[in-house]
Amino acid sequence: RVQFDDVTKVFEDTSGPIVAVEELSLEIPDGEFVVFVGPSGCGKSTTLRMLAGLESITDGEIRLDGQPVNDMSPKERDIAMVFQSYALYPHKTVRENMAYGLKLSTDLSDEEVNRRVVEAAEMMGIEDLLDKKPGSLSGGQQQRVATGRAIVREPAVFLFDEPLSNLDAKLRKHMRTELSRIHSELGITTIYVTHDQEEAMTMADRIVILDNGQLQQVGSPKEVYYRPANAFVADFIGSPS
Ligand code: ATP
Ligand code: MG
Repeated sequence: RVQFDDVTKVFEDTSGPIVAVEELSLEIPDGEFVVFVGPSGCGKSTTLRMLAGLESITDGEIRLDGQPVNDMSPKERDIAMVFQSYALYPHKTVRENMAYGLKLSTDLSDEEVNRRVVEAAEMMGIEDLLDKKPGSLSGGQQQRVATGRAIVREPAVFLFDEPLSNLDAKLRKHMRTELSRIHSELGITTIYVTHDQEEAMTMADRIVILDNGQLQQVGSPKEVYYRPANAFVADFIGSPS
């Protein structure tokens, strides 16, 4: 499980401090698919980046299976993140991209690494692309590689930061179904950030709504839609009035 305990992030900007996340407390049980939504700048990416270890925590504690991760390096955390930009290595093949993180973080044999890469590639339907470079792939294929690379790690937690926002509407809808399928197959705890309301409503076990770095509501899609906690949530979700 993932626990945020009074987590605060303050950025020191030239114009003064920016409170990106303010005293966030949230518990995510194993296997849950949680979707973060909220206006641009509300702190979604910062929250994910703190969990992944890509950003320091100003105050409070984040725990993975009860263990504080504040002082762990990104590599030490059993977490894999998929970015909006995919962040693939352009000079490595798909196979090398997918194997790289696993080789760094474990001492598995080359055969075992390759076995896991092929298995994840099959799951994402990209087994024919393994020897290609990312630059020769479509956006949708790159998205699959980025997700495959996360699957290879077999992490305890998946983080997705707007993974489908660079795809056209049709492909986005298709990938949404694929990602839901993978989640039900692997049962890995997932935190997913999106601007797409329909994505949030259809994929989430629970939706987390943030505004201005502050938690507004946590609940099932039905709960937040029919029983918004405040006017902001009602307006943001578009609840019936
Ligand atoms: P979006 O939907 O646009 O991706 P977001 O919810 O992911 O927005 P964050 O990127 O987490 O928002 O940013 C939260 C706040 O922190 C914003 O006010 C942003 O300007 C600020 N911020 C984020 N990163 C930095 C940084 N490295 N330095 C200074 N301020 C930052
Ligand atoms: Mg963001």
